[in-house]
Amino acid sequence: MNTNQQIAIIGGGCAGLSAAATLAEQGYSVTVFEASSQLGGRARTVVVQNNDLMQLLDNGQHIMLGAYHATCALLKKIGVHENNVMRRQSMHIRMQSNSARVRFSLKSMNFLPAPLNLLFGFLFCKGLSLGERIDALKFMRHLRQSHYEIISDRPLIEFLNSHRQSGKLLDYLWEPLCLAALNTPVSKASTRIFLNVLKDSFSGKKGNSDLLIPTVDLSQLLSHPLSNYIRAKGGIIKLNHRIRALEQTNTGFSLETRHEKFNFSHVIVATSPARAGDLLAHIPQLKLVLERTKHFDYQPIYTIYLQYPSDTRLPHAMAGLDNSLAQWVFDRGIIYNQKGLLAVVISAEGKHQKLKQDDLALRVAKELNRAFPHLTKPLWHKVIAEKRATFACTPNLARPGNKTALPNLFLAGDYTYQDYPATIEGAIRSGIKCAELISKSRLN
Ligand SMILES: Cc1cc2nc3c(=O)[nH]c(=O)nc-3n(C[C@H](O)[C@H](O)[C@H](O)COP(=O)(O)OP(=O)(O)OC[C@H]3O[C@@H](n4cnc5c(N)ncnc54)[C@H](O)[C@@H]3O)c2cc1C
Repeated sequence: MNTNQQIAIIGGGCAGLSAAATLAEQGYSVTVFEASSQLGGRARTVVVQNNDLMQLLDNGQHIMLGAYHATCALLKKIGVHENNVMRRQSMHIRMQSNSARVRFSLKSMNFLPAPLNLLFGFLFCKGLSLGERIDALKFMRHLRQSHYEIISDRPLIEFLNSHRQSGKLLDYLWEPLCLAALNTPVSKASTRIFLNVLKDSFSGKKGNSDLLIPTVDLSQLLSHPLSNYIRAKGGIIKLNHRIRALEQTNTGFSLETRHEKFNFSHVIVATSPARAGDLLAHIPQLKLVLERTKHFDYQPIYTIYLQYPSDTRLPHAMAGLDNSLAQWVFDRGIIYNQKGLLAVVISAEGKHQKLKQDDLALRVAKELNRAFPHLTKPLWHKVIAEKRATFACTPNLARPGNKTALPNLFLAGDYTYQDYPATIEGAIRSGIKCAELISKSRLN
């Protein structure tokens, strides 16, 4: 155990927990301060009271990609086997129309090596004309030849239009993918970050484009095993400990909660960008961080849970919905043994925000009924509206990195992993990066 370095981590989401696990493994003394009564941050499971029933629901249906290498490696390190917690399926985007038909289907041809699996997928996909399929293939070829890079960032819609990716290609493929990956509409989304996600998923090993759908709830997937690991390695986790003030001292930093004061040599601030800005506001050297986080815009994610009778099933675990407010529907019975429970996801801003939650649930149930006529009236519903689910991933957004102007103070969090949108993977990579910066600074 390294006794000179006491490391505080403010925030027990994916970023903070991955930093703590990495440092604790190396023998550092870590303490995680989490404001709420549970860990996991945005990727947590919530208990919902429904009549007399207590129901466990994820704070949003999360999915991951085969390209989430840091997440998979971290889970492996802490003893979580992918097969026990996730369903890995090769990429298959299916868009269900309002008239109970599959309108678009793009499937990775997994018997072929990458990139042929996807190129042939595009060639034989359902729902596009031959001309549109050729445009898609030309676009994919251009992306490969340019190494998925662009000279100057701009809104994704402009980039797609300049490559003849409009009409059905936009509606069935690029817009849903952009919303799912960046949680930002194509009209506002950063082309550079979208291409980074495509590059990680569509180039390299063919498993990179796989979808990883959790088969356990988010807390069992992430925060429980991570916190068990941190504690087993001697780390301390303090729940219900909101840090209200952070100050620099002669020997490091002092952290203040409502009732206590603590001293640490190093601090990793692993909160959301808005909270990080508040915490750092009184440290003059960190004005730049404050400036950058102040200019962030946010986008919502709505998850509408609809419970149908327990023998209700969708034809597939996941489907996209065309021409409706609802964007994706997941059958929690197929993926997670919550029989009859469907999770509908609506990413980013839109008309749905104007509806009252009950009206929104009713509207979504009607849309589902048109797409899947066997779905009648749900028994109950629950809408989870995360109004600031992620930062808006817009072109040329100036995002702070992990290092700050103070040598022993670091920033972790999805917003600091500058090449990625707000994702579990970005959060985990940022946490691991902060841990590496601390161990490197010790060696120098
Ligand atoms: C509805 C929804 C759906 C999503 N879907 C996906 C998906 O499908 N795939 C994907 O990869 N990502 C998805 N995301 C994004 C993903 O959840 C986040 O990117 C990731 O969880 C962010 O982790 P983080 O650690 O950076 O931040 P957070 O999860 O926000 O963690 C920050 C933590 O800091 C704590 N904190 C704040 N202030 C203080 C303080 N002063 N003192 C102590 N603690 C404090 C907070 O309570 C919180 O626990 C989704 C997000 C939402 C909301």
